[in-house]
Amino acid sequence: MRALQLTAPGVLEMREVPVPEIGPDDLLIRVGAAGLCHSDSFVVGLPFPLREDPMTLGHEIAGTVEAVGGEVTGRAVGERGIVYLCWSCGTCRECRSGNENVCLAAGRTAMPPCPGLGPDGGMADYVRVPANSFVPVGDLDFEQAAPLADAALTSYHAIRGAREQLRPGATAVAIGIGGLGHVAVQILKAVAEDVRVVAVDVTPDKLDLAAECGADLGLLADGETAARILELTDGRGAEAVFDFVGTDPTARLAVESVAPNGAYRMVGLGGGNPGIDAGPAGGPGLPWGATVRKSYGGTKSDLLASVELARQGRLRMAVERFDLADGPTALDRLDHGRIRGRAVLIP
Ligand SMILES: [Zn+2]
Ligand SMILES: [Zn+2]
Repeated sequence: MRALQLTAPGVLEMREVPVPEIGPDDLLIRVGAAGLCHSDSFVVGLPFPLREDPMTLGHEIAGTVEAVGGEVTGRAVGERGIVYLCWSCGTCRECRSGNENVCLAAGRTAMPPCPGLGPDGGMADYVRVPANSFVPVGDLDFEQAAPLADAALTSYHAIRGAREQLRPGATAVAIGIGGLGHVAVQILKAVAEDVRVVAVDVTPDKLDLAAECGADLGLLADGETAARILELTDGRGAEAVFDFVGTDPTARLAVESVAPNGAYRMVGLGGGNPGIDAGPAGGPGLPWGATVRKSYGGTKSDLLASVELARQGRLRMAVERFDLADGPTALDRLDHGRIRGRAVLIP
């Protein structure tokens, strides 16, 4: 089969590899679509190899069950679905409490094994997955379904954790209208329709996309963005700020525009420093009562909720389709901010 593999730091190659063998608790999935994420770009850009042997990328996987492991019950060949990306242990205290994204087996700072970021992922004709990671999607298009596995899951998780702030009349800010951000705007409108959603991005066409997704207002990011958000909110700031970029400027924007008792959620992994200190909440720093949460992925139930929203037609991914073989081109476009919504590779 074909697989888009990271063969050395910075080197992405289409290779012919054997179809994966599956264990008794696994499924073999024939890939219908695989989404491309900034995390892929991050991994390709690492100066060291993540694995010694070539690794197939792809953690947003949609496809059809091709084979079922001997010990698996309740799954059948031909079922259509997506793959939950936290391959957590399923038995620890956190997993049993429904917090699979912070599985104890991953330790304090790691993340549970994730296809395409350790185990082989879905940018291939076939992928082996643990059977309990499979989530049926009914008749959703694969290219619509694949981005649910991360873009929707991760956005939904961050938003669910800020529900207390998302009361009628509140303002929510989404910074960065890319793969996650354009989905987050729709999720905000779906779960908290009386909340005003303000989209922030550096390019006008991303703000157009945000408007199509239901954003009430778009702000082109510049040095005045925090001041504009304060102006819009009587000087208080936004009750919830979701940063899907995570660089120094966006982290500071979040701190400077979140309201007292508001929620600042770090989602984008840009390594930015929000510059929070423990002093009095004067000036542009973090106001009293505001919380900061570093948000990783989501829980299985967050994924089920995301699938449900998509099946109800309330989530619609903006998708740019690429042939699997054109993965490197898609990655290059993503790196240059030229993907509208999500790039999806079709084997
Ligand atoms: Zn991702
Ligand atoms: Zn666990």
